[in-house]
Amino acid sequence: MNKRYVKFLIFASAVTLVVLLSAFSFTSMWKDPPIVPGPGVTEIRMLSEWLPQLAGTKSDTEVYVIKGSGDGGRFLLLGGTHPNEPGATLAAVVMIENVSALMGDLYVIPRANRSAFTHNDAMEGAPQFFSIELPDGSERVFRFGSRRTNPISQWPDPTIFNHPAGTTMGGSEISNLNRAFPGREDGLTTERVAAAIMNLIRQEGIDLVVDLHEASPEYPVNNAIVFHQDAAEVAIMTQMMLEMEGIDIRLEESPINLRGLTHREIGDNSDALAILLEVSNPSQGRLRGATTEELVTTGIDKFYLQASKDGKLFAPYDETGYSLDLRAARHVATISGLLDSWNMMYSDRMIVLSDIPAYQQILDKGLGAFLSPIS
Ligand SMILES: [Zn+2]
Repeated sequence: MNKRYVKFLIFASAVTLVVLLSAFSFTSMWKDPPIVPGPGVTEIRMLSEWLPQLAGTKSDTEVYVIKGSGDGGRFLLLGGTHPNEPGATLAAVVMIENVSALMGDLYVIPRANRSAFTHNDAMEGAPQFFSIELPDGSERVFRFGSRRTNPISQWPDPTIFNHPAGTTMGGSEISNLNRAFPGREDGLTTERVAAAIMNLIRQEGIDLVVDLHEASPEYPVNNAIVFHQDAAEVAIMTQMMLEMEGIDIRLEESPINLRGLTHREIGDNSDALAILLEVSNPSQGRLRGATTEELVTTGIDKFYLQASKDGKLFAPYDETGYSLDLRAARHVATISGLLDSWNMMYSDRMIVLSDIPAYQQILDKGLGAFLSPIS
């Protein structure tokens, strides 16, 4: 064997090894970290049931149904509309793993844009995974994904996104699920996901929809209940309830012309009341330092501390950061307040859930205490 041939063999083997390792790391991102259905979960359905074209694609996603023993209203909770907002996903997972329904039905889609969980936003340096420690010392791992659908599921985006309501947006917004509502059944993948969720809302007779999000601390719509005008009374009552608990939350009415967002399009295109919740997340903002797993879970960042001292933020911030526990606890407490308000106003369609972890409990024990170990 001549020397050149040996060199070539060594080089080819090294390239093959790198390619195999990269492929393994790449495809590992397509696997969903487990969610453990709690005692209240009565069915796990797939979103493609409401739009068969999604079956077998990376955008088909689990719908956890928690049915009550008594008749009542129907509530849809969306997490993971933006998979780079982990407080939203975790709040949805905590509901799935803990609550039961006494009256009415709860539907939870924890990975609404499932394809967007399978990659990261380019140039953001975000971690692919983060983990939460449980009281028994084990860990639960979750994906930190992207704001947008994976280009493997949807490519190329158009130069301009002509929204069906008549407004135009930058082309990439067509892969942002929170701009693609009410969706098109024959549209691009993200629009199909939106259309499937709209079909679920109409066909299941959903009364109330809450879409969970997180926002950069420097973004003005923060720590807020964003409400469609039809949901104004429920939102206002919830704010009053949360203030009694010492949770400061602002109210933002959904602008009529801001199209494609869940709080606008679900409210306009169905009988459901639509609400979107925001909570402050430093790992998502533009002022942050290194985007580590620690920043995602603790929210501690010296640059945000400085920005807070300079009065540039729209959410309280100090050296204790803004932890994932706090962010998810705020969401869970707001959901609880919204349901109490709903039940006061719509006593003919009550939605009564048990075992919703209390705000202070989550802060005291940490999120890990409300997640089940993987057996
Ligand atoms: Zn968001």
